[in-house]
Amino acid sequence: ATMPPLLSAIANAGRHGVLVKSAVVMERLGQVDAVALDKTGTLTEGTPRVTDIRPLAASGLSEEELLRLAAAAEHPSEHPLARAIVDAARTRGLDVPPVEDFSSAPGSGVSATVAGRTVAVGSPARLLDDTAGHPARAVAADLEEECRTAVLVLLDGTPVGALGIADRLRAEAAATVAALGRLTGTAPLLVTGDNPRAAARLAGEVGIADVRAGLLPQDKVRAVRELEQAGRKVLVVGDGVNDAPALAAAHTGIAMGRAGSDLALETADAVVVRDELATVPAVVRLSRRARRLVV
Ligand code: ADP
Ligand code: MG
Repeated sequence: ATMPPLLSAIANAGRHGVLVKSAVVMERLGQVDAVALDKTGTLTEGTPRVTDIRPLAASGLSEEELLRLAAAAEHPSEHPLARAIVDAARTRGLDVPPVEDFSSAPGSGVSATVAGRTVAVGSPARLLDDTAGHPARAVAADLEEECRTAVLVLLDGTPVGALGIADRLRAEAAATVAALGRLTGTAPLLVTGDNPRAAARLAGEVGIADVRAGLLPQDKVRAVRELEQAGRKVLVVGDGVNDAPALAAAHTGIAMGRAGSDLALETADAVVVRDELATVPAVVRLSRRARRLVV
């Protein structure tokens, strides 16, 4: 028998390195007319590096002590920022102490008990709510001014320093954004939990005008719902636990597979297995071609 067009398209998508989970998904991909892209791990490579280690003077900690504490708390996390911090500690030959009571808040950060003390690592905007004027805020702002992702380290609730982290843009990011804009006839949207400065800089480099920064997982869902209420069929592309609700809420969700979290991969309708962002517009085109044959 000749293979039905949607099944051929799934096989074709597989050859491009994209796992499309069903014929229904293959069909829906071609219907999208708006796109919301995540930043870290989606438009960027997802292998960030620690570029700055800034203990606060009042903490009395050395750079290595600050990094060791952060790496310990991040050790159980699968977030790309967590891996960057643990790798930085390993590269410096630091031994990372074991932790208890690990917990993570998607889009915010992590917390754990290290040698009886509570270490929190995460977004300055989330962790510094009631400490306006704290020197930690100035250090974080300084790093964000250089377009780093700044993460704050708190010891027993007190800020003790910040780390600056940077990730490279994917080589194909700008071309992919342009291709998705042409295919859908709508300017793509950036939805990120990162700080507005780092987000705006990257958006400028890839040609995205509509930037939503500092978002929690439910804020990403709200951005998708607003578009869908305006009659759009939204494609969400993301990689993190924090993207899972938006991937589920979207008309179609695609997860980046290599550095993507298990939850994102399970929730998404399709998975980019070969880690090439340019395959996203390619599968939209495959779907449209198949649908012309079906109808
Ligand atoms: P994006 O939406 O761009 O993929 P995330 O929502 O995953 O980014 O992260 C948003 C922000 O939350 C980060 O910039 C960081 O400040 C903080 N954050 C999230 N997870 C962690 C973590 N494991 N360690 C430290 N900070 C984190
Ligand atoms: Mg991400």
